[in-house]
Amino acid sequence: MKRMDTKRQFTKNEELILRIDDLGTDGEGIGHIDGYTLFIKGALPEETVRVKIMKTKKSMGFARLLEIIEPSSKRCEPECPVANQCGGCTLQHLSYEGQLAMKEKKVKDCLTRIGGVDLEQIEWLPILGMPEGYLHYRNKAQFPVRADKNGFPVTGFFAGRSHRLVSTKECQIQHPAINEAVNVVMDFLKDFHIKPYDEEAHRGLVRHIYVRRGYYTKQIMVCLVVNGKSLLHAEELVKRLQSMEGFAGLLLNVNQERTNVILGGEMKLLWGTAYIEDYIGKLRYRISAQSFYQVNPVQTVRLYETAFSFAELEGSETVWDLYCGIGTISLFLATQSSKVIGVEIVPEAIENARQNARLNGIENVEFYCGAAEDVVTDMVSQGDCSADVVVLDPPRKGCDGKLLDTVVKMQPKKIVYVSCDPATLARDVKVLTEKGYEVRKVRACDMFPGGGHVETVCLLSKLHSDQHIGVELKMDELDLTAAESKAT
Ligand code: SAH
Repeated sequence: MKRMDTKRQFTKNEELILRIDDLGTDGEGIGHIDGYTLFIKGALPEETVRVKIMKTKKSMGFARLLEIIEPSSKRCEPECPVANQCGGCTLQHLSYEGQLAMKEKKVKDCLTRIGGVDLEQIEWLPILGMPEGYLHYRNKAQFPVRADKNGFPVTGFFAGRSHRLVSTKECQIQHPAINEAVNVVMDFLKDFHIKPYDEEAHRGLVRHIYVRRGYYTKQIMVCLVVNGKSLLHAEELVKRLQSMEGFAGLLLNVNQERTNVILGGEMKLLWGTAYIEDYIGKLRYRISAQSFYQVNPVQTVRLYETAFSFAELEGSETVWDLYCGIGTISLFLATQSSKVIGVEIVPEAIENARQNARLNGIENVEFYCGAAEDVVTDMVSQGDCSADVVVLDPPRKGCDGKLLDTVVKMQPKKIVYVSCDPATLARDVKVLTEKGYEVRKVRACDMFPGGGHVETVCLLSKLHSDQHIGVELKMDELDLTAAESKAT
């Protein structure tokens, strides 16, 4: 690809005035000057700003915001006092209306530019924003614990793209009960002189405080991630946490690796249950610490209802829910179809999924554990590929190419793609549209108010069967043995 020639060189510490015309994935303003692209944290589209260049690369650089000469009409005062320093909420300085518009634009841009989708040809439903207020929505926190300059434990959030801790006692997007639980743990650490983790020296004990709360059940699970095997005075921490409504369990997660990955492999239950339960709509779910569970309970039900309505189930369908987590979407779908098959890579999540089916008396579901690209591909190669609808809900990196090929071979009439990254959604949509599918409907949903990420539900339907790589396999020719050996 031909790179645009820059007309002049830019140097570090140079001050410039420029207009911002876009927002990047992490909420940073993007401006262009003489063919050069600058990323500026805290600047918004439609603003004229004075900046100082901090870092230069060949065709782009990073600059610090010095002055907003002409502010955007969508600029607002962040609710959180540490919003500008903390790397969590990157968009609190943009009005909620502005955030929604920006997220919707991002999905549209990706689908047209990367996915080659013609927006005129599809049904575009307006983005689902939080119905009221957008603070205190999160049901899960993973706060790092580090030492302040006097060696006392502090918690908060890392500044963007760094491991510099911005200390705060209250995170505005968390449910207040989660902040309260974190403060109970912090007081305990201080009172018993328990050492926070020191990343550089790989010493000290407590690395993270992980709290999860059921929105409807109010059950709270607290997990301390430690660089060790045990926690002294744990019974005192239990006693203190018991003063909180809904305290369900205390866990210790052992992580003695030099790593940025938060959870280690070993989970020890110190008190109570190793899971919490919660409702989404009428269904009750059991959630263990290792399992994925959507973080915004108010929006989750709206996201799933969108996916459910896009599937347009009549009751006789066989549906596959790939990347199914604890079976949340699977059980929604099972209430209105003949059979649902869920596939997920995390064993604890599959265990939860099976428990959840039992908990809700749902029998027309089967869950398999393993990488979807391997498990489903194996099943299909053995003939087990009857599918009317396939739901895909992968992590940010999107679907594995092998899985997309397999899904195309299964020839479902509909594919409902639930995505947490519009760029990888668009990349995968391009593959699917080249192999006989067509985008019909799209709806974005704001699961992360204050932050830059956006969730999207996209319905694709099968065009003409002669455009598919044809494999005709029937259910009664099945040999399930290989596939079942993968199920845990
Ligand atoms: N549909 C679920 C989970 C979505 S998150 C929900 O809404 O709650 C994506 C899930 O994909 C996570 O549970 C993750 O563990 C799982 N996952 C990641 N890579 C996978 C793979 N290769 N195969 C199957 N599941 C995978």
